[in-house]
Amino acid sequence: MTDRISHWIDGKPVVGAGRTGDVYDPATGQVSAQVDFAGPAEVDQAVAAATAALPGWRGTSLAGRTRVLFAFRELLQARKHELAKIVTSEHGKVESDAAGEVARAIENVEYACGAAQMLKGGFSENASTGVDVYSIMQPLGVVGVISPFNFPAMVPLWFVPNALACGNTVVLKPSEKDPSAALFIAELLAEAGLPSGAFNVLQGDKVAVDGLLAHPDVKAISFVGSTPIARYVYETGTSHGKRVQALGGAKNHMIVLPDADLDLAADAAVSAGFGSAGERCMAVSVVVAVEPVADELVAKIVERMRKLRVGDGRKPSSEMGPLVTRAHHERVSSYVDAGVAEGAELVLDGRGVEADGANEGFWLGPTLFDRVTPSMSVYTDEIFGPVLSVARTTSFDDALALINANPYGNGTAVFTGDGRAARRFQNEVEVGMVGVNVPIPVPVGYYSFGGWKDSLFGDTHAYGPEGFHFFTRTKVVTSRWPDTSHAGVNLGFPKNS
Ligand code: NAD
Repeated sequence: MTDRISHWIDGKPVVGAGRTGDVYDPATGQVSAQVDFAGPAEVDQAVAAATAALPGWRGTSLAGRTRVLFAFRELLQARKHELAKIVTSEHGKVESDAAGEVARAIENVEYACGAAQMLKGGFSENASTGVDVYSIMQPLGVVGVISPFNFPAMVPLWFVPNALACGNTVVLKPSEKDPSAALFIAELLAEAGLPSGAFNVLQGDKVAVDGLLAHPDVKAISFVGSTPIARYVYETGTSHGKRVQALGGAKNHMIVLPDADLDLAADAAVSAGFGSAGERCMAVSVVVAVEPVADELVAKIVERMRKLRVGDGRKPSSEMGPLVTRAHHERVSSYVDAGVAEGAELVLDGRGVEADGANEGFWLGPTLFDRVTPSMSVYTDEIFGPVLSVARTTSFDDALALINANPYGNGTAVFTGDGRAARRFQNEVEVGMVGVNVPIPVPVGYYSFGGWKDSLFGDTHAYGPEGFHFFTRTKVVTSRWPDTSHAGVNLGFPKNS
């Protein structure tokens, strides 16, 4: 018997009537549960619940809405360890890493608690004589959130708190690979006092996504996932008249200049390359070593990689867990084969790693390629695993040109002691999120998160101020209260006097 992971519709669990999928414990390789896959009827049911809840929730005062979010924040804080354990059990990342994910999720709830400040409109008194003009920010209606497997708690909470704070109701379609965190979030939101139907979870795959993209009552979609699906979601959603933000994949480069502190750079490369087994959209996947530092830097990276402890994420001694599924393990391993075949220098091979966990777990150890060139598939493709590439260049200009030629533009970092070089880098690099001696520059909750180029479709970044912008539409009111000086009919275009 395995557990059944169901939908959450109208404030309660709803067991699906159709297809199901396997959910794995990646550290044992065993199926741990069956998750429901929504069909069109369940999509309709979830959207209908969100539609029915809309008048009540958008009619709830700002104070009332934020009170629910404050209560939700307290519950999340009190039960963060449970949520982290749920993430580890289905994703595989080690518990300390899952705890970091939950902490960053809570940051977004805290930001949404300031909704009253964010939702102030403008007011211009006496814009024309006796006429006031003001703007109000109103919710969109029912919004869909579609999230990836790699941050099953944090990515939904990039969007859900801000969407709710703005007065929208939500249908979340989490990844089918690790669907339980979404249900835990649903339970806590209900306990915090969110009315039934204001937040719903629809489990499933492409069928559920397509149902949301085409549904006339869904007004907007926030998507995070791989680039091909992000492009598809953006094109399909907008063709159905929806507002869409679709965040895609990444190939993040970290430049190390000759004057950098190489120990700091090596620590950063290993932390950002192998944390969460490389399954982060902000993982560093290419280190660009500007000569003459490459040999020394590679040696320092290897020294650190050899000490990494791979094992079951539930064991406190483990620093890196397994990959999420067997299929993903096979895909990532095939890139190691391809890198060797294409002539990259395999410095450390993670295939056949001895992990502290069950033999059937989806283990791949830290892997390092040196002398990687832009034509190799290990360079061109997002691998999304513990495979780090080193590309060597002879100048800062060449390193910058390499990054700017890449179709992705999610995150990047420069390691240097030279402020002028760092400043030029931040100015000229065509990437949305930049670190200066910081390897994973995920913006804090009061900025916004988003890449450029093929890493984001749509013009609005996630969370922070842009999140409030995405989840509201602005109405401008021009108002005059009649006095006794009626001017009569005037067919001319109104001028301000
Ligand atoms: P994915 O694209 O396979 O899936 C994302 C979501 O889309 C899931 O909910 C999935 O069920 C759904 N989906 C999958 N195939 C679909 C299809 N054919 N039609 C409609 N929907 C479909 O991504 P993933 O493997 O879950 O996550 C990893 C990817 O997400 C990586 O590429 C990573 O870089 C990216 N990611 C990006 C960011 C960012 O902020 N830019 C953040 C996290 C993850």
